[in-house]
Amino acid sequence: MNKPKIALYWCASCGGCEEAQVDLAEKILDLVNLVDIVFWPVAMDYKLEDVEKLPDGSITASLINGGIRLSEHEYVVKLLRKKSKLVVAYGACSAWGGVPGLANLYSREEILKYVYHEAPTVENPQKIQPQLKIKAEEGATLELPEVFPRLLPLDLVVDVDYYIPGCPPTPDVTWKAIETLLSGNLPAKGSVLGALDKSLCYDCPLNETKPEKVLIKDIKRPHEVIADPSKCLLTQGLMCLGPVTRGGCGALCIKAAMPCTGCFGPLNEVMDYGGKAASYFASIIDYSDEEEIKKVLGKILDPMGIFYRYSLPASRLRGKITVMRR
Ligand code: SF4
Ligand code: SF4
Repeated sequence: MNKPKIALYWCASCGGCEEAQVDLAEKILDLVNLVDIVFWPVAMDYKLEDVEKLPDGSITASLINGGIRLSEHEYVVKLLRKKSKLVVAYGACSAWGGVPGLANLYSREEILKYVYHEAPTVENPQKIQPQLKIKAEEGATLELPEVFPRLLPLDLVVDVDYYIPGCPPTPDVTWKAIETLLSGNLPAKGSVLGALDKSLCYDCPLNETKPEKVLIKDIKRPHEVIADPSKCLLTQGLMCLGPVTRGGCGALCIKAAMPCTGCFGPLNEVMDYGGKAASYFASIIDYSDEEEIKKVLGKILDPMGIFYRYSLPASRLRGKITVMRR
């Protein structure tokens, strides 16, 4: 039987998205009954040449996680685009840059200098740094992919049909998205699959305890307070980003008394997640005195890491490094 072909690939990622796919557990067996997986470097021994030999458009959907940081990523995602009917950005890194996208606050040179020379655990007296090409003693020329000056979300490199949110997407969201992709009943191009177009608060078991208008007098970090798990975390001063984050994750963090950090990203109408989140918090500080306001906001020690944790490369700021390519 001619089953739909699926490809799975990772770019600049932590591997968590791959873990999430494996977390489908016994549903993986349903998946392999439904589709032929033709490329999945983390789990199966297909080679790039296998993909290169496939006819254009013969893969039904490629699910790509991670942002684009290396020339190798760029080559493979362009290849998968050519070979696939649908390309899906899987997870926060692919959709908006994700946590590795915070590296866009530094230049490539600063990153390499820190990683190979300055990090406390590095011992590199010969000051060796990876080169694009080296001639090995045996005579062969060895090549490494180029590190781009900044990390890009997938849709700044290839045309993307759909997005699956999360860091990582939950197995439930992943399965719903796969069912949609295989159903033939596809939503509008650019849609987010498997999640809600309502905020997390809508889906949160603590929503009943959240007042219509939240006002807070203090901001607390999770280690500073033992949260009451039966009460909206935001009203306890914890920076829960649920009001500005897409729902559909099942409120897993909230159920563990941890505030939402925003990994399901913005709702449909929001252009810049971090800007929306920052303006929301500015609107709920319950002081009119400027000094008091400054004191409370001063407790947000890492505003970029809080508000743009998953979305800096896709934001209007994009990062301190503004060059698009090499
Ligand atoms: S979205 Fe999260 S889990 Fe997936 S690769 Fe990026 S950091 Fe890892
Ligand atoms: S805990 Fe967070 S997600 Fe839940 S209702 Fe409060 S603000 Fe919303």
